[in-house]
Amino acid sequence: MIEFKNLSLTYPNGTKGLKNINIKINEGEFVVIVGLSGAGKSTFIRSINRLVTPTEGDLLVDGENILKHNGKSLRELRKKVGMIFQNYNLVKRSTVLKNVISGRLGYTGTLKSILNMYSKEDMNMAYENLKRVNIEEKLYSRADELSGGQQQRVSIARVLTQKPNVILADEPVASLDPPTSHQVMTYLRQINKEDKITTIVNLHFIDMAMEYADRIIGMRAGEVVYDGPVSEVTEKT
Ligand code: ADP
Ligand code: ADP
Repeated sequence: MIEFKNLSLTYPNGTKGLKNINIKINEGEFVVIVGLSGAGKSTFIRSINRLVTPTEGDLLVDGENILKHNGKSLRELRKKVGMIFQNYNLVKRSTVLKNVISGRLGYTGTLKSILNMYSKEDMNMAYENLKRVNIEEKLYSRADELSGGQQQRVSIARVLTQKPNVILADEPVASLDPPTSHQVMTYLRQINKEDKITTIVNLHFIDMAMEYADRIIGMRAGEVVYDGPVSEVTEKT
């Protein structure tokens, strides 16, 4: 479970990214955060794996206050809480396979990744995860030879390879056309159901949020201004 308790984040220049957020997200939920640009969606998501650090309150992940984390505990948190980005964040000149295996081994430093020598188990795991998003035929393509939709699918395979309990997706479809966006959202939703991975996605289109979410959190100016199931949003609009 993820719990925000009186959580606020003020950036060094004084901008308030989050204002006194109190919210609980249960295991296995598929939550979509909606709001205009600047509403605080990205700050909300990035707080959960400490890409940004809230300045007041508590943020609990599986009962641990992650605001106290550093070094080793932060690395463990980021292994457990995987992330997908708007611009995929793949290593462009590297192969799809190498990108996906990095979810498991990390890129730099490990002898295996320097020598491109992976165990059969590493390869199998990467291949199985690529199959889940139907992109296994691109195994040996360079990441930058793929379309945006394909790159985002590879980034989903990469995050699966790290075996997370939570997936954070920060505007994962903002650079994609509508059909490709639906395809990516469908994969995220399917993986959430099958693997029971808690999934939190930022979107700036309410229609798409309503199509995929169990629960919608609406943000405006750093505050949560709506929190409820999709059915209630429909009744009120
Ligand atoms: P969203 O994801 O909804 O577009 P953000 O979380 O990115 O919103 O931003 C929330 C607010 O914090 C905005 O006013 C934004 O300009 C500000 N902000 C975001 N990142 C920084 C930063 N690194 N330094 C200062 N202000 C920031
Ligand atoms: P998807 O719907 O899966 O994202 P697209 O229909 O956008 O795929 O792309 C179709 C084909 O065009 C893909 O096989 C992809 O490799 C290729 N392609 C798309 N964009 C690029 C690009 N920027 N550079 C090279 N190849 C691309």
